Amino acid sequence: MIPYAKQSIDQNDLDAVSETLRSDWLTQGPKVAAFEHCLRDFCASAHCIATNNATAALHLACLALDVGPGDLVLTTPITFVATANAAKYCGAEVDFVDIDKHTWCLDPLALEHKLNQLKSSGKRVKVLIVVHFGGLSCDMEPIARLAKAFDFKVIEDASHALGARYLDRPVGNGDHSDITVFSFHPVKMITTGEGGALLTNDARLYERARMLSSHGLIRESTQFVLEPETDWFGEWAYQQTALGFNFRITDFQCALGITQLNKLPQWVERRNELVRYYHTLLADTAIGWQRVPGNCFSSYHLFVVQLPHQISRRAVFKQMREKGIGVNVHYIPVHTQPYYQQLGFKIGQFPVAEHYYRHTLTLPLYPGLSESAVASVVQALKEACYGG
Ligand SMILES: *Cc1c(COP(=O)(O)O)cnc(C)c1O
Repeated sequence: MIPYAKQSIDQNDLDAVSETLRSDWLTQGPKVAAFEHCLRDFCASAHCIATNNATAALHLACLALDVGPGDLVLTTPITFVATANAAKYCGAEVDFVDIDKHTWCLDPLALEHKLNQLKSSGKRVKVLIVVHFGGLSCDMEPIARLAKAFDFKVIEDASHALGARYLDRPVGNGDHSDITVFSFHPVKMITTGEGGALLTNDARLYERARMLSSHGLIRESTQFVLEPETDWFGEWAYQQTALGFNFRITDFQCALGITQLNKLPQWVERRNELVRYYHTLLADTAIGWQRVPGNCFSSYHLFVVQLPHQISRRAVFKQMREKGIGVNVHYIPVHTQPYYQQLGFKIGQFPVAEHYYRHTLTLPLYPGLSESAVASVVQALKEACYGG
């Protein structure tokens, strides 16, 4: 079976993990801080918190931005459910904005339309979570302008986009948003097993997120809210000031993260090379692919195609899987999931996303994939679509 995505683990990764397992620290030791520094520098951001997964980092981002009951959070329907769920964990209301039909990322024009509509019905948006679909950055400049004009905060769910660039700057630098989140699940750009990170340039958001990521505890006596110099407290003191969580990652995961991150630039190049090969092989068909604007460099977490409309995606999917090719579908639009339909959303509300979804298919792409495997995937796809 050729999977749609796959991690790359080499001896250098294994050595780093086993060395950490033999050290004194399994969690919250030097490797966590070192990985956070590496990520922060790689993304040209000021602050970084590594977490147990990206879902937790998204939850933490919403909490740091004070999202709560009565607040409205917007996101795209073409994402993994975790993006929208993060806002629901905080008790907020979620609504969606349709995607651009060429880039499949949240459409800034649809966003502007939605914001004007909400404004005229007296509603305010607290936070927008954009998703850099497949590794392609959303068009962040117009989104940041709207955030300023309509006074809301922006979280980038960059789970797909570690190593991607927008306006020749790394995704995660925070030029156009308040917080960026990455995922290190094995199918993503690098892996720590489970894992995620939150990056921000805002020291206050960072402090708050750090505190909430570990039970809401403060250990720094200068920040204590109760007087520490009493018989009750001593040098052992910690004070809980808010209801936080345990979103911590382990040291041996971060040891893996560091060695993985070192290899990321070459992996992103390899993914781009394989995508160019896919494009060449698909050029004589009516099969479409994601448009990458000139101001973006995609990390290509996913290689997604659009099948011609007369072709049954169900049948193609089945035939490819039977041939051992692990095609997949990204994503079932979130608003059509039973949980979100129960909240009142309906099929038909976000037509561009739904049209995209009906015809979409994800083909295998990962650094260890060979050219000959790409050729056999395309061969199988052509047979499934056109016979022969
Ligand atoms: C994978 C993914 C997540 C969740 O990441 P985890 O690390 O598995 O929690 C969230 N959003 C998007 C867009 C993803 O692809």
